[in-house]
Amino acid sequence: MKFLLSSKVTEILRKADAFEALTAEEIILLLSLDLCSAETYAVMHAANAISRRTFGAKAERHMHIGLNVEPCRFDCLFCSLTRTAGIFTESVEFDTDQILAWARAGKAQGADAFNIMTTGFYSFEKLLDFGRLLQREVGVPLVANTRDITHKEGEALLNAGFVGCYHAIRLGEGRDTPFSPEKRRQTVQVFKDVGLRWMNCIEPVGPEHSHAEIAELMQLARRMGATYSGVMRRINFPGSPMAAHGMITEREMARMVAVSRLVMGNVPRAHCTHEPHTASLLAGANLFFPEVGSSPRDLQADSAKGRGSTVEDCGRIFREMGLEPSLPSNCFTDDPRTFSTEGSGCGGVLQG
Ligand code: SF4
Repeated sequence: MKFLLSSKVTEILRKADAFEALTAEEIILLLSLDLCSAETYAVMHAANAISRRTFGAKAERHMHIGLNVEPCRFDCLFCSLTRTAGIFTESVEFDTDQILAWARAGKAQGADAFNIMTTGFYSFEKLLDFGRLLQREVGVPLVANTRDITHKEGEALLNAGFVGCYHAIRLGEGRDTPFSPEKRRQTVQVFKDVGLRWMNCIEPVGPEHSHAEIAELMQLARRMGATYSGVMRRINFPGSPMAAHGMITEREMARMVAVSRLVMGNVPRAHCTHEPHTASLLAGANLFFPEVGSSPRDLQADSAKGRGSTVEDCGRIFREMGLEPSLPSNCFTDDPRTFSTEGSGCGGVLQG
């Protein structure tokens, strides 16, 4: 049996192998490939090869710690923590001892970073306090996941010990959320200006999102230099206003993870996907988010008792797929990284 790739796909893979930027038209073509086609598997192989060259065998585990639950009045349609979802009717702030215990356990299990998440109305001062505390007591790189910020607030995050911020311009931003996509993009520029690393994901993907909208966000992530920018699908909680749209499968997510990896070229230090699963590890992903505390996908206030995976769970999945969590993280160094893939079969996109 012989598999032939179209000349267009062959040319896109050549460009990706040379870390050249892809056009929106090329990205849309890749996102539209038949899921069962040899071309989709070639795209996944290419993405995996690029990740091995740029990340080696490193598997990253960035532990999400959600500091609080509230019936959030911003009412983003995909989020289970909203006032209208009615799942959480009271505000809960996890206490300091609990947060320290989660962080110490995460460090002991080998977490590479902590992503500290707050809901829309959480006190910025308290977030800074937790930054200072966790830096002093635990000493794992800190990434903040909070609202839009000013330059002054960006500098305050740096001074409190944060080294980066997770901040996605989400699919449907301004339509499914009350936030301005332009304001969120300006916040990413704030990170760049003050020296915070920008962590991103194409999210929360559902079947209703157009390939053009997805391609535009992938290109933005490359242009603005995301430290990582993979793909997360939307999880429809019971009663979600988005339930009528359904959800994409892990296999569809793997195709998208591969395309986003080709788009990012040699810009990122890792490639994320959520929730943890194996398919995307064949398509260039190497970063999972174990979860404790609040999560916008969960019905439990503490996601460790709900949908969340532990740092150890994630490690087991990575090792099954030939990736190694115990290697040093690539995300928090400024040194350029390249890894030899000689003899691994992962060396080139268009070999043979
Ligand atoms: S995504 Fe954030 S801002 Fe939007 S409703 Fe949920 S907690 Fe509030």
